[in-house]
Amino acid sequence: MKENIFVTRPSMPPWEEYTERIKPLWDSHWLTNMGELHNTLEQELKEYLGVEGISLMVNGHMSLELALAAMKFPQGAEVITTPFTFISTTHAIARNGLEPVFCDIKSSDYTIDEDKIESLITEKTVAIVPVHVYGSICNLERINRIAEKYELKVIYDAAHAFGSTYKGKGIGTFGDASVFSFHATKVFNTIEGGAVTFRNPDLYTKLYNLKNFGIRSEEIVAEVGANAKMNEFAAAMGLCNLMHIEEEMGKRKKLMERYRELLVPVKGIRLLEEQIDVKPNYAYFPIQIDETVFGRSRDEVCDALKQQGIFCRKYFYPLTSDQICFGDRYRGLPLETARSVSKRIMVLPLYADLQIAQVEEIVNAILACQCNRIK
Ligand SMILES: *Cc1c(COP(=O)(O)O)cnc(C)c1O
Repeated sequence: MKENIFVTRPSMPPWEEYTERIKPLWDSHWLTNMGELHNTLEQELKEYLGVEGISLMVNGHMSLELALAAMKFPQGAEVITTPFTFISTTHAIARNGLEPVFCDIKSSDYTIDEDKIESLITEKTVAIVPVHVYGSICNLERINRIAEKYELKVIYDAAHAFGSTYKGKGIGTFGDASVFSFHATKVFNTIEGGAVTFRNPDLYTKLYNLKNFGIRSEEIVAEVGANAKMNEFAAAMGLCNLMHIEEEMGKRKKLMERYRELLVPVKGIRLLEEQIDVKPNYAYFPIQIDETVFGRSRDEVCDALKQQGIFCRKYFYPLTSDQICFGDRYRGLPLETARSVSKRIMVLPLYADLQIAQVEEIVNAILACQCNRIK
């Protein structure tokens, strides 16, 4: 029987490399609480990402929640964000007692539509949380100008953008903070993990308190905080995976090039545009299917592939604003582009160990849906 192909498969280092890394833990018994591996990874990532400040966390979501918490916005304040993202982005805002204000996206790269941000700003607006969705980089310069004009904070959800640069600068250097996810399914993983990057050194202490119960010394709790520390086993995984990151991205690049070659000529399928000044990280391969031209809907293609053991994902459908946890609160919002993209988008399998032959198989399966219709 043929092997199933899933949308992603976590990168793992050679077993020996990992066991070498974790061996000393059996001597030290120091398993968490900013151990040696945690601190080493923090330093290595700081260099790799080219950022001034970084704080490692237990996962990407808590990184986002605590980055927002560290800004100390008043309860009920408004945060402009996008609904075309993983639910984590919206939850992080809501769980901080803040009100998400949803802005539409651009059809060119699916990031927040900077032309529509200003009209959403009110007296209660305190921040913008844009998302570098699929690794597409937001319009950093325009967003920065808007933020300066209205004195808003910018916290980028960079969960998809690990390793990307804009005009040669690490993507984590933009805005007041950027948040990365090192979840197993992301380009770089620590099994579960994440980080906040920033320029203002005060944020390091604030985030340290927030991720470690506000404990400053044996008898002193200086702040109310959560527990969101990265443990040593996760950090070890990160140190190992970081050694192979360039090689992993190189493999993703080749696969993506093959997808492009095969899909560019297909009418009714739209690919993500390459961005100028951006060094991409080859995180995801989303395609948009226009049923009127292609002859088959996104859902039909997805189902047909599933029957052949190829599991794509409808990222991001539904929009986070339309999820039932928010009831009808945001259902009527004018998010035309986001809604239209959300209905047509699907993400094709892409991970370092995927084979070129499998890419060809996936594309053939997509094209076969079209033939079945014509027959
Ligand atoms: C994965 C992801 C997160 C959350 O990261 P976790 O590490 O899974 O908690 C946040 N935002 C986006 C856009 C993501 O894809």
